[in-house]
Amino acid sequence: MATTRDYYEILGLSKDASPEDIKKTYRKLALKYHPDRNKEPGAEEKFKEISEAYAVLSDDEKRAQYDRFGHAGINGQYSAEDIFRGADFGGFGDIFEMFFGGGGGRRGPMGPRRGSDLQYDLYITFEEAAFGVHKDIDIPRTERCSNCSGTGAKPGTSPKRCPTCGGTGQIRTTRSGLGMQFVSTTTCSTCHGRGQIIESPCPVCSGTGRVRNTRKITVNVPAGADSGMHLRLSGEGDSGEPGAPSGDLYVVIHVMEHPYFKRVDYDVISELSISFTQAALGADIMVDTLHGKVKMNIPAGTQTHSVFRLKDKGIQHLHGSRKGDQLVRVVIKTPTKLTQEQKELLRQFETISNDNNPNGNQNGKNDKSAEKPRKNKGFFEKVKDAFEG
Ligand SMILES: [Zn+2]
Ligand SMILES: [Zn+2]
Repeated sequence: MATTRDYYEILGLSKDASPEDIKKTYRKLALKYHPDRNKEPGAEEKFKEISEAYAVLSDDEKRAQYDRFGHAGINGQYSAEDIFRGADFGGFGDIFEMFFGGGGGRRGPMGPRRGSDLQYDLYITFEEAAFGVHKDIDIPRTERCSNCSGTGAKPGTSPKRCPTCGGTGQIRTTRSGLGMQFVSTTTCSTCHGRGQIIESPCPVCSGTGRVRNTRKITVNVPAGADSGMHLRLSGEGDSGEPGAPSGDLYVVIHVMEHPYFKRVDYDVISELSISFTQAALGADIMVDTLHGKVKMNIPAGTQTHSVFRLKDKGIQHLHGSRKGDQLVRVVIKTPTKLTQEQKELLRQFETISNDNNPNGNQNGKNDKSAEKPRKNKGFFEKVKDAFEG
């Protein structure tokens, strides 16, 4: 059912809309499109869409998940019921029933129990998160017994309708008092609410219909995944009691640290050490990226902590083929152990610098300084040879 349109766009709000704005806008749109009031075709679809957008954006946790991961963050983590459950729809309290039918998703205390949800913490590398990965994981869980097909009855026999409750699992008792009638409902103690009794239990599962198993499951982690993302594998949790659905499996992504890449959203941040001659003279340097080595030009006169952007060398967005960039922060290494020759050259450099630039000013292109850059460059080449050669 989930819409693929942007939730903010659906409500006509900006990303920094306040909770009050969201609530106000929802009320306005809900009044306009509620199918009880609006009989135009498409109104009900529209109403469902704005209700879904509101359910997510009015919940701090769901909104944060959506802001970070988009629809994948919501659909991966929440079932359709979970998206709507708990949202405050104000005067439109019948929304849950509208989407899921009477009591949808909810279950009386009597019926067979749904299987438990399971959680698995999956650790992946920086590269696996960037490019996506298929991971086989072993999940210990409760599964339907294959010997009895989950009925709990010995093969060749079948469960019988409970004679005490007639198969409803409930006992209704009527009491009179004070001129009134009281009806109360209790769980049938013969069948414990199942409505069935097993006369010959299955020997494998002892009549429970379920067994413990370790199951290998392949998890598809999408490119662009990040720590904190939940992937929901519907129906891969514990199996339910006979007649009830299985729970879900939630895989929580943990991205391990990379020795030299960091991540900010979809950009990759790295640091590059260069020598002070490379910084002064400029250089082409091969830089490691997620997508292989890339030649990066350091222009002459680069200052330490300058940041260079390598376009599209970051991480692919969860949606679409857009990629982040790599941001390379340059750090200039100051040499610590100097030879006599190096020290001498640097002293010369200091002297020339003071002579050339008495005021610390640069006068641009005039005749006087036309000669000097060339001289400096020659000097720098010497320095370069002394330090790098
Ligand atoms: Zn019964
Ligand atoms: Zn069995």
